[in-house]
Amino acid sequence: MMGAPVAFIDLQAQYRRLKPQIDARMHAVLDHGQFILGPEVAEFERALGEYTGGAHVVGVSNGTDALMMALMAHGIGPGDAVYVPSFTFTATAEAVLMLGATPVFVDVLEDTCNLDVEDLKRAIVQTQGLRPKAVIAVDLFGLPADYGRICDVAAAHDMQVIADAAQSLSGAIDGVRVGKLAPLTATSFFPAKPLGCFGDGGALFTSDPEMAEKLRSIRGHGTGKAKYDIIRIGMNARLDTLQAAILLVKLTVLEEERNNREKLSRYYDSRLSNVISALARPAGYQSAWAQYTIKLEHRDQVQAALSQSGIPTQIYYPRPMHLQPAYAAYGAGEGSLPVSENLSRRVLSLPMHPYMPEDVAARICDAVCAAVGAGERP
Ligand SMILES: *Cc1c(COP(=O)(O)O)cnc(C)c1O
Repeated sequence: MMGAPVAFIDLQAQYRRLKPQIDARMHAVLDHGQFILGPEVAEFERALGEYTGGAHVVGVSNGTDALMMALMAHGIGPGDAVYVPSFTFTATAEAVLMLGATPVFVDVLEDTCNLDVEDLKRAIVQTQGLRPKAVIAVDLFGLPADYGRICDVAAAHDMQVIADAAQSLSGAIDGVRVGKLAPLTATSFFPAKPLGCFGDGGALFTSDPEMAEKLRSIRGHGTGKAKYDIIRIGMNARLDTLQAAILLVKLTVLEEERNNREKLSRYYDSRLSNVISALARPAGYQSAWAQYTIKLEHRDQVQAALSQSGIPTQIYYPRPMHLQPAYAAYGAGEGSLPVSENLSRRVLSLPMHPYMPEDVAARICDAVCAAVGAGERP
């Protein structure tokens, strides 16, 4: 039976709640007219820096540009190996290739879907003909990667660590928030991310003021102190003033929204843990819950049955990067990263957002239990 349509992510509910403040801040920008690097950009960078616990924040055009800028700031290019998990969104590997560097795909852990540090060590030792330069760890579905161990391995090989935190803003490890977990962090404000704007946007975080200065220069065509001194190769990667104005309002409710997502994730766990396997909750880790993802043996049948009941789901991601046609030349083919390959056949993400009514969450769980049936056990 089909009930009222269920939203996978309900951005309209959030806008209804914040409309007076968002509209007022947008109109203030229209009135002052400083659309490029207007005062709201610096105000937002300060507010987000405070939220993350003191990081320098550089607002940029989108999460993909943020990743490219992080690599540029470290001078990464041809001949350099950059280690990336294969089970991720395409932008992580794309940024590496855009700079002429070589992505080296690494497997992930079955229980968290995040970078497998043991496999990272294996990949570094096996690298031939390239300089191991950096690792981009991804906080998939909102759960931070294991930065403590990743930074140790990177330090032992004189490599840089970049966090792809596009999905994890509001996440934390032992109370230290995303943005302060890695020396350099990139995030995205794509509308569906935990902190989303009304278009494209992103940011970089660093504790190093000189790095922040360098990133600001790269953001604006590589300029120096004077506007027409070009001291490095940069790009046009500024965060729009209008998007910063919108983000300033949404940032005020991010923590409350994360708590709502946490509650929904715990409700899903409690209703579903007998019939499916959920992802792990490592001790001390706080997820941003960008997605609530389950693992199924008969994923496609379950997805079809849920669709019949009016429950939208998504597959993040149906194909690991080392098997993508555009990146296959950089991988070792089918069977080389078995956990990533297996997850891509089993994962399914359920509706997740901070404004889901309890009765809708209950309906989703009823439908999952029914769809999973007798054949599916963890
Ligand atoms: C969304 C996303 C990006 C890219 O962000 P954009 O703002 O869309 O460019 C990069 N990495 C991951 C893991 C993402 O989920």
